[in-house]
Amino acid sequence: MVNGELVPKEQAALGVTDLAIQRGYGLFDYFVVKKGRPVFFEDYLDRVEQSAKWLQLDLPVTREELRQQILQLIRTNGELEAAIKLILTGGYAEDGYSPSKSNLVIIEMPPPMHPASKFERGVKLMLYDYHRTFPSAKSINYIVGIYLLPQQRAQGAEDVLFHSGGHIYETTRANFFIVTNDDVIVTAGEGILNGVTRKQTLDIARHHFKVEERSPTVEELKTAKEAFITSSTRPIMPVVQVDDVVIGNGQPGAVTRRLMVLMAEEVERYLEG
Ligand SMILES: *Cc1c(COP(=O)(O)O)cnc(C)c1O
Repeated sequence: MVNGELVPKEQAALGVTDLAIQRGYGLFDYFVVKKGRPVFFEDYLDRVEQSAKWLQLDLPVTREELRQQILQLIRTNGELEAAIKLILTGGYAEDGYSPSKSNLVIIEMPPPMHPASKFERGVKLMLYDYHRTFPSAKSINYIVGIYLLPQQRAQGAEDVLFHSGGHIYETTRANFFIVTNDDVIVTAGEGILNGVTRKQTLDIARHHFKVEERSPTVEELKTAKEAFITSSTRPIMPVVQVDDVVIGNGQPGAVTRRLMVLMAEEVERYLEG
């Protein structure tokens, strides 16, 4: 769906003067479709609006029009299990610099696939000293994460964990949580992308555990009992190692596993509602 027009994927295109191409100026969002319905749809629409505000981009459609475009795309393709990526750009800039009317592209693609073993055994992360600019905006600029991919793969890490000034914020594409020795769930409350999965996880977690919204320190990793990341592609994924530090006993912990079950139930409840 390019600016409201359904087009075959091979023909979907933007002109080369768009600021997304010229300067990496734009935002995106990503969410999954289950049983033909976008999961936690309104939360994602909220975030698109918030990201647009942060980047001073005007949505060329109303929220209702955006909702209808996404639903029309899903109906047209007829896939029950899928993912949606939405991209809102800085628009065409004849001078190569000044934003104009944003282009809106909505792409439907196959659902995310991650081997079950990653959820069963947990994954490793790699630390990197960096803090995203405009962290509240889901910017299309992933230059640091993509630049680090060869290093990440060489270390066998699932993702790169950003820290700055001794504090941990998030990974390139997911929010990060630790569970302390006394079962307190800790995750950064500021300086991060407000993940929808993070929000859902915290809403569930508050009913069962104590929650603290503050950025965990790098030091705390050594004493943390558990760690996990959250994102739309990998709802809750246990983390068992960060660089050379083994988290807890090196296996997904009880709190993480409990949250994984509760989250799956929450998604089911949403789809029934
Ligand atoms: C998308 C993203 C997340 C996770 O957000 P979800 O809404 O849960 O998918 C976290 N951090 C960054 C930098 C992201 O781009």
